[in-house]
Amino acid sequence: MINILIVEDEPNMITGLKDNFEVEGYTVDTARNGEEGLKKIFEKNYDMVILDVMLPKLSGFEVCKSVRKKGNSTPIILLTARGEEIDRVLGLELGADDYITKPFSIRELIARIKAILRRRDNGTLQSGKGETVSIGKLEINFATYNAYSFFGEVQMSHKEFEILNLLWNNRNKTVSRDDLLKIIWGFEESPTTRTIDNFIVKLRQKIEENPNKPKTILTVHGIGYKLIS
Ligand code: CA
Repeated sequence: MINILIVEDEPNMITGLKDNFEVEGYTVDTARNGEEGLKKIFEKNYDMVILDVMLPKLSGFEVCKSVRKKGNSTPIILLTARGEEIDRVLGLELGADDYITKPFSIRELIARIKAILRRRDNGTLQSGKGETVSIGKLEINFATYNAYSFFGEVQMSHKEFEILNLLWNNRNKTVSRDDLLKIIWGFEESPTTRTIDNFIVKLRQKIEENPNKPKTILTVHGIGYKLIS
């Protein structure tokens, strides 16, 4: 029996999804806001979570982030309304397994669900586990938020991990300060580009052999940063 949780606040959307999923033979549970969704994900062992981004109380992004941060690897498909590139990038960075942009066809969504379940069953789904990667002097596991040097564990803040993860996922490409601001800080806070530069200084102190002559996180003058790997 496949057990699916729908986290969505629009009643029509819930009804539409629920009816179609039940026709597929799935068992369906629902949550009407992010908080309730988060609670249910930890209460039950769902096979799949369909998670809307625009939700009351906690956004889908925040739910996804909390789930992964606590080491829960339940597969998640995000429903994004805006269809912006930033949503897709952010969703996948936060540990979602896939995303689908509204309006979507229910057939397409069910095909995505089946694809993820297949990957889970043959062991190729990596939700929330992740591997350790080498960046400069450190070994980093982005899924568990751990960083190690030759001498042991290195303390890094959540924001430092997020910035490093974004640079890593775009390694050998320039990431602009504007994109870093939009993706890491979102719209709720508005730090200055100076804030980013300060974070980069701290990251270099942890990563670089010589923080004054960085070889891993390079400055691209007037634009942003580039992680070399
Ligand atoms: Ca919504």
